[in-house]
Amino acid sequence: MNKYLDITIIVLFAIFFLTNNVFAEPETKNIWQNKLSEYSSNNDVHSLIFVKCIKNTSEANIELYKKSENNNFELLLKAQGFIGKNGLGKEKEGDLKSPIGDFGIIQAFGIKPNPDTKLEYLAINENHYCCDENCQYYNKIIDVKQVNHKCKGEHIIKYIPQYNYAFFIDYNKEGVYPKGSAIFMHCKGKKPYTAGCVAVDEEIMANILKEIDSYTRVCIYNE
Ligand SMILES: [Zn+2]
Repeated sequence: MNKYLDITIIVLFAIFFLTNNVFAEPETKNIWQNKLSEYSSNNDVHSLIFVKCIKNTSEANIELYKKSENNNFELLLKAQGFIGKNGLGKEKEGDLKSPIGDFGIIQAFGIKPNPDTKLEYLAINENHYCCDENCQYYNKIIDVKQVNHKCKGEHIIKYIPQYNYAFFIDYNKEGVYPKGSAIFMHCKGKKPYTAGCVAVDEEIMANILKEIDSYTRVCIYNE
């Protein structure tokens, strides 16, 4: 009888350890390590911005990595940030969610002068809008003095301090309506969440812009 009891105990322990190893370590834990190795051999990527979102919250841990001469990524800065009020998984205009995935950058822009970024930097004036309507300008920053369109989208200059410094993430760069528009990385406002963007302190945003160029990937996933 003792023998069977021993075997039962061993089997129970085996099940316990196996199930713990299988289920306690979600695959997402390795996403970040995989991104670092995947992009280290990609010459079209110089910098990585990790947006490590904390599940079921509007908070994220932000990390900036830059490639060194030996092609390894080095951690340059860490900061606390905010994402969409309704978390991750953007699907449509107004869902207050941030997109999941790896993204590029369309351009930088800001109400304040260029903080010395190598990205193309659009100095914002009162004519700049980001269009959120079903038309050819959807998900584009336009100068309404230069196009024939009475835009009802975001009047960029009105968002101080959020758009003091910002860059345009290339989510839905094809401008398919209504998949979502105006997904930016920008400075924090007063609220502890965004409408779908990624927000960090203004000083951090300026520092990130100084360090990156157009060869940057922004990776947004659950931590
Ligand atoms: Zn418009």
